This record gives sequence, structure tokens and C-alpha cells, in this order.
Amino acid sequence: MRALIAGNWKMHGLAASRGEISALVAKMKAAAPTDCDVLICPPATLVAAFAAEFSGGPIQFGGQDCHGEPSGAHTGDISAEMFADASAAFVIVGHSERRANHNESDAEVRGKAEAVLRAGLTPIICVGESEAERKAGKALDIVGGQLEQSLPETSEDFVIAYEPVWAIGTGLTPTLADIAEMHAFIRAKTREDVRILYGGSVKPGNAEDILAIDNVNGALVGGASLKADDFYKIVMAAGGKQ
Ligand code: PEP
Repeated sequence: MRALIAGNWKMHGLAASRGEISALVAKMKAAAPTDCDVLICPPATLVAAFAAEFSGGPIQFGGQDCHGEPSGAHTGDISAEMFADASAAFVIVGHSERRANHNESDAEVRGKAEAVLRAGLTPIICVGESEAERKAGKALDIVGGQLEQSLPETSEDFVIAYEPVWAIGTGLTPTLADIAEMHAFIRAKTREDVRILYGGSVKPGNAEDILAIDNVNGALVGGASLKADDFYKIVMAAGGKQ
């Protein structure tokens, strides 16, 4: 299975950040794994411009969230069809920051994932337990419940990102054994051809070990995706991974 290394820029980046994409493209043209897909999800304001400027290159672009409906009276929201129109390839849905800051339920996340498929794009569906849930020994139950209720009811192409909430932006990561256990658990609940990404403080220093784990088919990277140098090192760590 081809690895997917996806960068989530969150609410970071202006038009001038095209320089980071340009630097990443230059590095990837000089040397990059051929068996790895690379995606950047910048703020929605930048998707169309980046996709146009860097079309045909080694990087795809995507959205960080979308509304479930194709259009309507939803001030400030962006539909999956709009991301398709901006030449996005993927849309992240159900990120823990969306679930926490916007009270998104599993049912809404499923609606968004189905909207992304309806628009002809690939959803990256995020799941993950909180620190309290992990400490209480409930991580598998919580993620199992999220999967049951937020995966689309279809056999189309989607990606799952396991992101323990307590590992996002903290510099903390689960043990390699805990990541392996969770990814095997998720694999057992989905198809063999679904890519399962790990996300949560992936850095150049830990990417190779994490990406070597069975059933880890790539990474969703926040902070370390903002700088071309760091992100490129993570892309290269995915190099030999099938
Ligand atoms: C994320 O935002 O999805 C994420 C994994 O962030 P970070 O890599 O900074 O922990």
C-alpha cells in the first residue's frame, strides 16, 4: 500500500507561505520516495492558489474540514464541492480540534465524510482518545465507537487517521507498542485497502520508527508540516514503506 504523508497547517499560513511549498517541491524533485503520496492541507483560502501554482507536481492539496451539504445558507462554511472546485484531492474531517471546538458529533463527521465522497474527493477521517480515556484503559473502546459511528456507510475510498488527542501538539506520543495495538485494532474493523495514518507529534526524529509499525500507512502531521525541511524529512522516512 502506498504511504500517505499529510500535512495539516491548521490556522497557519498566508499567501507568502507558498515559499515553503516551493522549497518542498524542489527537494522532492531532487529526491523523494516514489511509493509515497504527499498532501498539504493549508487554510482554505490558499487551496486553490497552491493547487493551481503547483499542479502536476509531487504534492496534492486538501481541505481541513467541510460542511455536509453541497451549498446553502451556512455563512462562513465551505462545502466539499467547493474544495473539489479548488482542485483539492482530500478533505480532513473529524479532527479533534473540530470535535472539541465546534462540538462535532460522530454523526456529523460521518455526514462530512460522505459529503467528501459525494464531491469525488477522499476523506481523511480522524479518531482518537483523550488522555483521561487512555489512562482509564478505554482507548480501544472509544476509538471503536468513533469508527462505528463516523465511517461512511460505503465501500468507497477513505483514509482513517488515528490521532490520540493528548499527543496532538504536545510532543508526547504513545509507545510504539500502543500505536501498533491501536492500528491492528483499527485494521480489524476496516478493509485491508484502507490507509490508516498515525497523527500526534510526528517529527523528523520519530517518523521512521512510527512509520515502520505494521498497519501504519502514513502520517498526519501538524506542527512539523509547516517547515519544508522538517516535512521533507518525514516524507523521506516513509520512503521504503509499502
Ligand atoms: C494534527 O494537527 O493533526 C497533528 C497531528 O498535530 P501535531 O503533529 O502538531 O501534533
